[in-house]
Amino acid sequence: MPRAAGLYRLHAVIAFGGILGVLLALLVALDAAMTHDQSPGALVSTMGSSPTMTSDTTAALLLTLGAVVSCSLGLGLRALWVECLSHWRASRLLQSSSSITTAIGAVRVIADDQPRAFCHGLLGPRVYISSGALHALTPPELAALLAHEQHHARRRDPLRFALARILGGALFFLPVLPRLLDRYGDAAEIAADEAAIAGGQDVAALAAALLTFEESGAGLHPDRVDRLLGEHIESRIPTAWVRSTAVIIVTIIGLGLAGSTLDGHEYLLLAGLLVAGPALLVAIALALASPVNLLDGLSRWAA
Ligand SMILES: [Zn+2]
Repeated sequence: MPRAAGLYRLHAVIAFGGILGVLLALLVALDAAMTHDQSPGALVSTMGSSPTMTSDTTAALLLTLGAVVSCSLGLGLRALWVECLSHWRASRLLQSSSSITTAIGAVRVIADDQPRAFCHGLLGPRVYISSGALHALTPPELAALLAHEQHHARRRDPLRFALARILGGALFFLPVLPRLLDRYGDAAEIAADEAAIAGGQDVAALAAALLTFEESGAGLHPDRVDRLLGEHIESRIPTAWVRSTAVIIVTIIGLGLAGSTLDGHEYLLLAGLLVAGPALLVAIALALASPVNLLDGLSRWAA
């Protein structure tokens, strides 16, 4: 299983390339709209009655860039709204929880017969546990489980997941992002298990706690218990995912650069080159490096 840190950084690097592509498309679309009155309606009518092939191509290019920017902003705002709403709803439901002191410090308890444990909160994440889990688990199992959740809180995983989902919505043209986030979700669970064990918790107790949750229908990833029991789990990022992402980023940047040369504004071309440079570096790194080497490098970076 690739390391959680490497997966998250790979997600961030790809998203950075995508954001630069959207920025470039936004610059070109704004310039066209403000300096030439190239409204979408005017462009569509140009395409129908254009005297030259060049005008048709220009209109199609500007419409494509405008569509990318509009979809990106719309889907990004929708994802932001969904995240805010679900966070607000969960916070309201958890208001009635009470506080107890455990080996890891204060933990919130919710009244629920089902065994549950999770971390909630974007800026100040807290560990929550259900009354069902307090009854079902032995003290060593409870300690191991709380150490696992404490790792999620320390890493601010709820905030990381929320940001990654918003970016995945806004950068809809990079379908690799939701898949990487799924992989990060699995890797973050394993990283939290490893952190609990490294902190002195008992492996067997943690595995037993996970099995108790699994029996109650918590739907845990099956690799987790196998891994705790010493099995080697192989999980690689498909090379095709990473390479096709590089092609998509280069295509968006290429369209943006072509758009920035259209009306001869030097400031637009300069901005295009400034934005395109780092984005092309991201794309080249993704296209040339093998996903495993890339993940190793990203895992070590600032670790
Ligand atoms: Zn977890």
